[in-house]
Amino acid sequence: MNLRPEPLVFELSSPGRTAVSLPKGDTPSYELPAGLVREDSKLPELDELTVVRHFTRLSQKNFSIDTHFYPLGSCTMKYNPKANEVAAGLPGWRNTHPLVGAEFSQGAIELIHKLQVMLGEIGGFEAVSLQPAAGAHGELAGVFMIRAYHLSRGDSKRVKILIPDSAHGTNPASCTMAGLETVTIPSNAEGGVDMDALKAALDDTVAGIMITNPNTLGLFERNIEEIARLVHGAGGLVYGDGANMNALTGVFKPGEAGIDVMHFNLHKTFSTPHGGGGPGSGMVGAGKTLAPFLPGPVAAMEGGKYVLRDPAKTVGKMKAFYGNFGVLVRAYAYIRMLGAEGMRRVAENAVLNANYLKSLVEKDFPVKYPRRCMHEFVAMGDIAPGIHTLDIAKRLIDYGIHPPTIYFPLIVPEALMVEPTETEDKEALEEFAAVMRKIAEEAKANPELLHAAPTTTPIGRLDEVAAARCPVLCYRG
Ligand SMILES: *Cc1c(COP(=O)(O)O)cnc(C)c1O
Repeated sequence: MNLRPEPLVFELSSPGRTAVSLPKGDTPSYELPAGLVREDSKLPELDELTVVRHFTRLSQKNFSIDTHFYPLGSCTMKYNPKANEVAAGLPGWRNTHPLVGAEFSQGAIELIHKLQVMLGEIGGFEAVSLQPAAGAHGELAGVFMIRAYHLSRGDSKRVKILIPDSAHGTNPASCTMAGLETVTIPSNAEGGVDMDALKAALDDTVAGIMITNPNTLGLFERNIEEIARLVHGAGGLVYGDGANMNALTGVFKPGEAGIDVMHFNLHKTFSTPHGGGGPGSGMVGAGKTLAPFLPGPVAAMEGGKYVLRDPAKTVGKMKAFYGNFGVLVRAYAYIRMLGAEGMRRVAENAVLNANYLKSLVEKDFPVKYPRRCMHEFVAMGDIAPGIHTLDIAKRLIDYGIHPPTIYFPLIVPEALMVEPTETEDKEALEEFAAVMRKIAEEAKANPELLHAAPTTTPIGRLDEVAAARCPVLCYRG
């Protein structure tokens, strides 16, 4: 990868250069009215080849899963087969207008219906809605459903949602946006929910719990069934954050362990790239209790035809039309391509890869909760005096590796959250471990190397707060 600084496009400008030469006009010309032509816009003057090279080089400065190992924990940055991209781009899918009507879009509704059934099967759910457009959006839908359920029974005092302290920040945010209060439940010594704290928090003001399994420490929540039993016993419902389905597909069905409603990130586990800011899907699945409250419309079969209709007590629409359809086509193609056996192997290999990598890395970077992990593990980066996780992350960039997620989950100090995914081979994992070992040696022998990193990028260490709060987004020549 060429990481030299690029000149700005304005600096390449040369007066009189142009990318197009138009034929001599043979129609009469006339002056445009004054005021319509800006003389001060100072656009760069460039030939076509310079423009192509400039933007192609810029595009090559990105890290992406197609170019680099990308172990960004909780984000499941796995390889998404190109065949699914081709499927989503087929003209029949791509060009169908969402207002075309059921009569003329039977194929599209059939795909939605079949995907609902397949995802319901994978999660152990009675019914599925593909409406929400992101994980956090699915969470919001789920909390709306829980609230609507209690209100439908005339129970308006349930205003609290319990959330473990290891949860993703979107959980309390979704809960607050839905108008409910969050109550934080601490973790126990082995990284699971503290059961005594849970019991103490349960009363008739609890609407439900939001639980992530495997949790953000990459650990399976062993007490999941007991947690569901206790919350149900107190009249509450159980929300499952299913962003981490990559560890579970074909092996464990959350719906059968007492989860009432759950979102999956199709843009993590099911073949749409995550993290590019593009469209996503946070579909929600629900068991018997909450299925009638799902967002609509959902696809159904009626009298031999596919139709779109609202569930009986729907919380309404979360998004225009039927969700992000291209993402749904990719997920459908992906599941069909792999089949039940293949979906199981995804989870098995995701877990195997994470445990293998953990065994290689934990010698240098201690893991706070060292029991067997699921799809990811959380190590710690403060391995030498004056060395912090941020230094490790920045040094990895110099070695051509996208850093893992850092400083999350919040309950692990100096967290380095590594998720290799199932699509990396043994060599890639060993290469990453070797780089981590090298950085650990540098941290002890030559910490300045780490403090100065990254040194191979156009811009070195940023003031990250200023970069986020006061970004400079336009050219100031
Ligand atoms: C990614 C993720 C989410 C949120 O998903 P978005 O699509 O980014 O909104 C929620 N919880 C966990 C554990 C996640 O990893």
